Amino acid sequence: MSVIQLRDVVKRYNTEAETIEALKNVDFHANRGEMVVVTGPSGSGKSTMLNMIGLLDTPTTGKIFLDGRNITDFDEDERTEERRSQLGFVFQDFHLLPMLTAEENVELPSMWDTDVDRRERASDLLERVGLGDRLTHTPDELSGGQQQRVAIARSLINEPDILLADEPTGNLDQDTGKTVLDEITRLKQEENIAVVSITHDEQLVAYADRVVRIVDGVVQ
Ligand code: ADP
Ligand code: ADP
Repeated sequence: MSVIQLRDVVKRYNTEAETIEALKNVDFHANRGEMVVVTGPSGSGKSTMLNMIGLLDTPTTGKIFLDGRNITDFDEDERTEERRSQLGFVFQDFHLLPMLTAEENVELPSMWDTDVDRRERASDLLERVGLGDRLTHTPDELSGGQQQRVAIARSLINEPDILLADEPTGNLDQDTGKTVLDEITRLKQEENIAVVSITHDEQLVAYADRVVRIVDGVVQ
C-alpha cells in the first residue's frame, strides 16, 4: 500500500488578476522504501505538489490518503499532528537554528514527545549520519554538507513514514551532494521510508527509483 497518495488533485490559486490552476487532476503515490523524484520546469507545480504531499496546503478538489486513510477533510490541527508524527522535511537551505547545537537542532521536532529519551535519539541519529563527533557544534561551525546531514537527522527524529526533500542538494557542490544523497538512500532503506524530492538537479534524478515529471500542472 502506498504511504501517501494524491487522487485526482486539483489546486487553484485565486489572485486578484486571475485564477491559476497549479495542479490539474494529479494522481501521485509513493511507497515505503522508494525515492520518488518530482521534476519539471519552474512554475510547473512542483512546490504546490510538495505542499499537498506534506499536508501544508489542501487541494481545491481531489483526495489525499496517508497510509490508506483519507485525510482530505482533516482540519489544520489534525494535519499538523499528522505532519509531526508521519513526515520529515529537508530543505535546500537547511533551516537549522543558528544558536542551537547540532544535537539540539535534531531534538527540536520531538520536544512535544515526553515518552522518550530525546537527547539519546538525537545523538544516535547524528552518529548514523557520521556526525557523532560534532554533537555540540553550532551550524556555523559545520560545512554545508554537514549542516544538511544534521537536517536529515532532524527530519528522522519522530520516525516518519515519509521524508520530503525540497531541492536537498541545491546549495551543495557535486561531491557533497553525492555524499548527502548516498546518506538519504541508505537511511531510506534502513528506515523503510518513502522519500519524495523535488529538484532540477540531474544528479538527484539519478538516485530516483521513480521519476515523476510535471509540466503546467499536469503529471506527464
Ligand atoms: P514550481 O515549484 O514548479 O516552480 P509552483 O508550484 O511554485 O511551481 O507554482 C505553480 C504555479 O502556481 C505557478 O504558476 C505559480 O506562479 C502559481 N502559484 C504558486 N503558489 C501560488 C500562490 N500562493 N498564489 C498564487 N499562485 C501561486
Ligand atoms: P521556490 O521555487 O523557490 O520553492 P516557489 O515558486 O515555490 O519558490 O514560491 C515560494 C512561495 O511563494 C510559495 O509559498 C508559493 O506559495 C508562493 N508563490 C509562488 N508563486 C506565487 C504567485 N504567483 N503568487 C503568489 N504567491 C506565489
